[in-house]
Amino acid sequence: MGIAENLNRIKNKIGRDVTLIAVSKYSENSAIQEAYDAGQRHFGENKTRDLDEKYRVLPNDICWHFIGHLQRNKVKYIANYVYLIHSVDSWRLLREINKQAAKSDRLIPCLLQVYIANEDTKYGLDEVELNALLEKPELSQLDNVEIIGLMGMATNTEQSEIVVKEFESLKKLFETLKKSQLPPNVRMERLSMGMSQDFELAIAAGSNMVRIGSAVFKV
Ligand SMILES: *Cc1c(COP(=O)(O)O)cnc(C)c1O
Repeated sequence: MGIAENLNRIKNKIGRDVTLIAVSKYSENSAIQEAYDAGQRHFGENKTRDLDEKYRVLPNDICWHFIGHLQRNKVKYIANYVYLIHSVDSWRLLREINKQAAKSDRLIPCLLQVYIANEDTKYGLDEVELNALLEKPELSQLDNVEIIGLMGMATNTEQSEIVVKEFESLKKLFETLKKSQLPPNVRMERLSMGMSQDFELAIAAGSNMVRIGSAVFKV
């Protein structure tokens, strides 16, 4: 089985309304090119240095998603081309993205990463921090970023009840926010949840963007 077959199998499972991001963080350029040749255009990376190296040599119509923890001092390396940043977990980071986006004369779409897992190794905002960020009066003055949804990672466990509960809690939060009064540069359209192990559960819970690495690239 090759990468093209993996992509087909996954695409059949997720349906047309869910965006598949092929997480290429452990993949060689040749494997990424193979996925590209099979029609894949959205790829995800979690390190700015790796992303930059891949961005330079791979086709320039790839939509590069940043999915990992992002340090403020590294935003400048990806600001002029990143397609969507999934992992905004602080006001200070969002402000830095806005600043670097302005320098590149861009509007950078972002997701707020929400902590939903039962583990203490994962990044993200809790519900209180999320609401505090969304209620900041200065948020609407960030002219070079737009928040288009939420991202979350479930606990890494075989127990699907736990995973389902976590995904459903994020979906509920997403829907609640969608109905609430939001600043003009915030809207709830994209819900990024689901990885190789749990994307079917994530989609059942309402995800419309899945980030899949090993199930795409493992051959
Ligand atoms: C690595 C990674 C993925 C993909 O993980 P797989 O289990 O290989 O599908 C998805 N999201 C984030 C944030 C990641 O770091």
